Amino acid sequence: MEHQTDRKPNFPPRVLFFPLPAQGHINAMLHLAELLAMADIDVTFLNTDHVQGQLQQRAHIQAKYAAYSGFLFRTIPDGLPKDEPRSGEQSILRVLNSMLKTTKPILKDMLLSGGVLGSDRSPYVTCIMADGIFGSLANEIGDELNIPVIHFRTISACCFWIYFAIPDIIKAGELPIRGDEDMDRIITRVPGMEAILRCRDLPSFAQIRDVEDPQLHRIVEVTRQSARAHALILNTFEDLEGPILNHIRTQCPKTYTIGPLHALLKHKLTKRLLSTTRSSKSIFEEDRSCIAWLDSQPLKSVIYISFGSLTVMTRDTLMEFWHGLVNSNKRFLWVMREDMVTGEDSEIPPELVAATKERGCLVGWAPQEEVLAHPSVGGFLTHSGWNSTLESIVAEVPMICWPNAIDQTINSRYVGEVWKVGMDMKGHKCDREIVAKMVNDLMVEKREEFQRCTAEMARLAKISIDEGGSSYCNLDQLIEDLRSVQQ
Ligand code: UDP
Repeated sequence: MEHQTDRKPNFPPRVLFFPLPAQGHINAMLHLAELLAMADIDVTFLNTDHVQGQLQQRAHIQAKYAAYSGFLFRTIPDGLPKDEPRSGEQSILRVLNSMLKTTKPILKDMLLSGGVLGSDRSPYVTCIMADGIFGSLANEIGDELNIPVIHFRTISACCFWIYFAIPDIIKAGELPIRGDEDMDRIITRVPGMEAILRCRDLPSFAQIRDVEDPQLHRIVEVTRQSARAHALILNTFEDLEGPILNHIRTQCPKTYTIGPLHALLKHKLTKRLLSTTRSSKSIFEEDRSCIAWLDSQPLKSVIYISFGSLTVMTRDTLMEFWHGLVNSNKRFLWVMREDMVTGEDSEIPPELVAATKERGCLVGWAPQEEVLAHPSVGGFLTHSGWNSTLESIVAEVPMICWPNAIDQTINSRYVGEVWKVGMDMKGHKCDREIVAKMVNDLMVEKREEFQRCTAEMARLAKISIDEGGSSYCNLDQLIEDLRSVQQ
């Protein structure tokens, strides 16, 4: 058997993508995979069996990638029983833990068995593009098989940088958090964030009450592993997170910022006169009826609500949002995933049903990029996932942020306090009056103020992905790098 380690030179490069099987991670990594395929770099995209099963039901996604001759999908088990639930935040953590325990020998075997992850033209993996969350595992495999590893972190640069600084925060006695009354205390030990970072803005994993918290230590360890990788990729752009990126580069000098990736991909597809109409990479079935509904609404009159692919909320919280939206008297398009609400089903009050019929539209999953770009949409009530934040910035849509976990808490702080492209609801109770007031502020009272800032940020995002812009040039450099590492 021919081994990966015996590979001969002169085969074209092949990059192995290894994402966490969650929608936000897959979206960002598929965007980059397609950009590389367009540059004639062969790609193997490694999904779990479960995700691949979902993707196979989306014929347009299959067709899109089949058009790139060097693009392969391959699968790996996630180690969980077939019938185990895989949606919702807790489930994704179970999937992650299971993969960290089980995938290393399987993946190593696949890499060692000539051709399993490649094609005749490019049989061997010349670089592993690992989701940063698998950074330690990928670095170990890369060291053992002598394959360069690049870490792709799908979170914001500011969140990544906080993880890096956690040991210093703990050393300075600024963590743990001492109780709910401590949440507004300023954390001073993250370079570049000295004045704006409160305990409540820390990524959820860092909001610890015990410095020995094992989960946080695992995250810090995996983050620091990025300094050992061949390079680090962040889906952001220099004008958005420049000051923080300067700090990150003191630890990870080869950091490529190539975002917003969805916009860069769209730009490149348009330049090649390729279709961008079905750019979606959703593993869930999209309900496109909402686009027809949006078509019949007035300009910038609709607030779009989505809490991403993983957030769950109680029925009480759902009701507060729903009443607040209805009381704001604004039109709304709301993504209500079927696994989004916990607790017993109860009857929806008739006034909510009537108001929703009159000026609302509910869907199970929306074509979000298209929704945000629609002229009828004037605001976004979001959980502040990083993809959603970037998509909103590009579309010039101001946000109300209801962050829930991971990097969302720090993303929402930057949205409200630094970039000023929306309002952070964190710290407020989720209460119908607050929701109605914030929706009204976003869509009416403070609309002009937000529009100025969103227009400016969108302009900078556009410059970064245009020819000569920072993300555009960084992608070219990354491609050169990927071509050179195989020699
Ligand atoms: N998304 C979508 N349709 C929806 C809701 C979300 O296509 O109805 C996409 C959205 O465009 C984004 C991704 O799902 O690209 C969610 O990623 P994000 O990082 O915002 O949040 P996560 O789901 O990881 O919490």
